[in-house]
Amino acid sequence: MQAETDFSERRAGLFVSLQEARANAFLVTALPNVRYLTGFTGSNGMLLLTADRALLFTDPRYQAQAPRESDCEVRIAKGPLLKDLGSWVKRLHVKSLAFERNRISFDEYRQAQEALPKIRLKPVSGAVERLRMMKSATEIATIKASVQLNSAALEQALRQFKPSMTEVDLAAEIEYRMRRLGADGTAFETIVASGERTAFPHAHPSDHPIQQDNLLLVDMGARVAGYCSDMTRTHAVGKLNPKARRMYRAVLESQLAAIDAVKPGASCATVDRAARSVLRGYGMDKLFIHSTGHGLGLEIHEGPRVGRKDRTKLEPGMAITIEPGVYLEGVGGIRIEDTVVVTEHGCEILTPTGKELVVL
Ligand code: ZN
Ligand code: ZN
Repeated sequence: MQAETDFSERRAGLFVSLQEARANAFLVTALPNVRYLTGFTGSNGMLLLTADRALLFTDPRYQAQAPRESDCEVRIAKGPLLKDLGSWVKRLHVKSLAFERNRISFDEYRQAQEALPKIRLKPVSGAVERLRMMKSATEIATIKASVQLNSAALEQALRQFKPSMTEVDLAAEIEYRMRRLGADGTAFETIVASGERTAFPHAHPSDHPIQQDNLLLVDMGARVAGYCSDMTRTHAVGKLNPKARRMYRAVLESQLAAIDAVKPGASCATVDRAARSVLRGYGMDKLFIHSTGHGLGLEIHEGPRVGRKDRTKLEPGMAITIEPGVYLEGVGGIRIEDTVVVTEHGCEILTPTGKELVVL
């Protein structure tokens, strides 16, 4: 997959931010951003980018791996990466260095100040993340593969389902299936909640048995070649009461309306509003306590945020989730989530799993 990617082209996209920051080099410290710009998948790495050099700093564990994955000049540091980096900053006559203010801890900032004396540090926010919002054809193909694997894992796991199985058992079954199907792992901790516990949007699976005549909510994501998928389905185990059924209908209608609103030029807030106004019609908008969706890619939560206040205009190539939900304590919660990609005229729903209420 990575052989097709032109990392130097991605790095070139950062030069605008460099100019805006009036800096002559960029220090990239967030690992997903390092991966995006270099191809390097290790757990310790920093990228130093100047107008004509791209230096990847890592430690001896990645001596063999880094040059294989990345087209950058690889520097193996024996000690702290920032120390080595500091000597290169000097050697390359860098006077001012942009850094990722939203991705660095206070400690790391202090270490950078120490390792880079006399260098002007210029805080820049979200520069690489902005580039990452627009996915290339290769990235979309990888997200699609991740989404398809995720759906296949749910289908296989549900074949093993029987009432009285615990939430943890079902979560384990799902994650096992993901691995067997070729995922790198999960994109986030699998959520399996049943009965009244579905009213907690981010419930951890418990040893609670999944009982007959109850709701069952599963929110799951795989990671394939680094890229995340994200899907939520709410099922009926046996019979549901009319209230829960009405909630399901409302959420499904709301989700379809939001997907309908996804098109180039539409703002994220418009999509969010489309989901909310359907729920308002059911008197359930107050039960919708999170945003409608989020971008995803190398990380499970990326820009844009599909929320009430986000004015970001959708553009072809953005991959986002659409996931309205309603939560009523003492009754339960319903959420339906798909991953979609913005296209020239609207969007493509990547998630192949059906959305009509499934009775297990
Ligand atoms: Zn999810
Ligand atoms: Zn999500």
